[in-house]
Amino acid sequence: MRRVRTGIRRLAGRTAAIYLVVGCAWILGSDLFVLLTTDADRGDFVVNSLKGLGFVFFTAAVLLLVLRGWSHRVSEAWDAALGERRRFRALVSGSSDVVLVLADDGVISYASPAVTSVLGWASDEIVGQPIAELLHPDDVHSAFGFWESVRSGSASSDRFRSRFCTSTGRFRHMEMAAADMRAEASVGGIVLNARDVSPRVEAEQRLEDALHYDFVTGLANRGRFLEELHGASRVVRESDSLALLVVDLDRFVEINEEVGRTNGDAVLMEVGRRLGEATDPVALGRIGGDEFGLAVPLDASAGGDLRAEAMRCASRVAEAIAEPLEIGGVRLRLSTSIGVALIGAHGDPDAALAAAEASLHSARTHPERIAVAAEGKHRVGKARASTIVSELRDAIERGELEVHYQPQCALDSGAVVGAEALVRWPHPTRGMLTPGAFLPFAEAHGLQGAITRVCLDDAARRCVEWNGDGHPMKVSVNLSLSDFRRDSIVDEVLAALERHGASAELFGLELTEHTLLAEPDVSLGAMRRLRDAGLHLSIDDFGTGYSSIAHLRMLPVDEMKIDRSFVAAVTKNEVDQAIVSALIGLGHRLGLSIVAEGIEDPVVVQRLRKEGCDVGQGFLFGRPTLPGDFTREAFGRWVPESAASSLN
Ligand code: C2E
Ligand code: CA
Ligand code: CA
Repeated sequence: MRRVRTGIRRLAGRTAAIYLVVGCAWILGSDLFVLLTTDADRGDFVVNSLKGLGFVFFTAAVLLLVLRGWSHRVSEAWDAALGERRRFRALVSGSSDVVLVLADDGVISYASPAVTSVLGWASDEIVGQPIAELLHPDDVHSAFGFWESVRSGSASSDRFRSRFCTSTGRFRHMEMAAADMRAEASVGGIVLNARDVSPRVEAEQRLEDALHYDFVTGLANRGRFLEELHGASRVVRESDSLALLVVDLDRFVEINEEVGRTNGDAVLMEVGRRLGEATDPVALGRIGGDEFGLAVPLDASAGGDLRAEAMRCASRVAEAIAEPLEIGGVRLRLSTSIGVALIGAHGDPDAALAAAEASLHSARTHPERIAVAAEGKHRVGKARASTIVSELRDAIERGELEVHYQPQCALDSGAVVGAEALVRWPHPTRGMLTPGAFLPFAEAHGLQGAITRVCLDDAARRCVEWNGDGHPMKVSVNLSLSDFRRDSIVDEVLAALERHGASAELFGLELTEHTLLAEPDVSLGAMRRLRDAGLHLSIDDFGTGYSSIAHLRMLPVDEMKIDRSFVAAVTKNEVDQAIVSALIGLGHRLGLSIVAEGIEDPVVVQRLRKEGCDVGQGFLFGRPTLPGDFTREAFGRWVPESAASSLN
């Protein structure tokens, strides 16, 4: 830096000196020329030359002063720029985050020293390289999209994740913040502040796998299998069918005892492998302890009998499993019972699974131990469906649907902090129907909106009533996918609140992951508007669907409700316990409050409290009841003091 400054000063001095020498030479030269070529007077020559030389000396001095001043200002500006650059470097070089500066063409113009400890590269190895060479090939496109949005000022978030290559050829997950500092002379580029979040991402990945996959066999678990089944059944053509097989291992409990648990696990793994090999299924999962589910496409184009083809498929499976097996030095021969159901075009996979599981019971009494559910047995006949729909329509019109409430209690104090509205249909002949018996029909026949409006209206009224009675609590309503397909959903919610004067902050909406992610374009906009209006949004049944943790991070939600299936197993099963504990940790990190669903056992409460779970809901605290009973039972029984003492 000093060299540059003295260089500028010297340049000023030299310029003035050259001017002086050239000026003097010119004056003397031209005057001499005049003296020699004309008969000019010598005295005049001396006087003129002295005047000229005086003028040149004077202007050279002025020039020197001007150039000195200028060089001083230039060196000062230079100093300032270098100082800032130095400060920038000093600031970033001490940071444990990797700081990179990207030039406009995506070339790295600066890399902080942390790049060595985090990614193994020396700074000068990567400076001058295009950043694309450092990124995972699958991330290049999205990363450049992000930087472009930072450049144009349209970025919706200032954070982004990409995988960066290390010097050993591995990849680390880096979370980056980006700032456009192209206008800063000391920086002149996009500054990326990247932090290594690999341990966190890997833990989340393990959690996600645990949520979807059976850890013994590596196959899909029940929730994931059902999702796959839904996906596969959506693409079944009119003439084709899927054979849904539920395969149960006979005497597995005894086998497990005989060969030991570790070998028992190996048996399950081998069964999973054989099932896949024998049938090439479109969905395969371990759906129970010794129960596997698989869906195999049947081709009806040859005009064959689908039931017979499904039977043949099940026999192939039974034969494959019956092949002798040697595990832990013991030779085993397994046998199976198989329940089968067919899923045609527009078939209902949930009903088909229930039918296949029911057939499994009859399979156990069949000689070949295979039973196929009667065609259509798992489908509600068209005639019956239309009766249900018209009865439901009448019930809605006559205001016969009831809204029941189930309490939600703070796990530390036992106080009732919320109530979930759950719809019920007191049917004149079939008794009190729960939502599972009629909501699918409501969804399919355009009645869901009317039901939702009933629930919203009732819940808004209770919300005002209970909070006014000195019970501070949040009242929540479930919304389904078809609710979000109505453009008016946000207005419907807000209108219900306004009608009763309910405060948005005390009102909650529960949405399942399926609703959130089935048509994100439809639901996300409405969710954001609802949340902006102050409503509390919960993600329901978490862990049963394609719960992607990456999605969770992006969703505008305040609360995670951990599904009953994990909660119930928390005291029995180490894996579910680990999942619940990880979910609570993750949820809290994302700023969500955590509700555990389906608590029936006080031991579960103890365990969940230890894990830091915030709220519990389940039969232990109270079943869903009419509002009158709710106020009597929930407020009576779960006042904070008594609740706290009974929980301790
Ligand atoms: P959900 O939102 O997960 O509601 C909780 C369900 O678990 C309720 O079933 C509740 O009765 C049940 N439950 C609560 N605690 C326990 C427990 O400790 N043990 C057991 N075994 N079960 C418990 P319900 O009322 O049959 O509702 C089933 C589902 O129907 C709800 O699941 C929700 O997704 C949906 N649903 C209910 N009401 C409405 C509604 O008004 N609108 C919409 N769109 N969906 C609704
Ligand atoms: Ca719910
Ligand atoms: Ca739930």
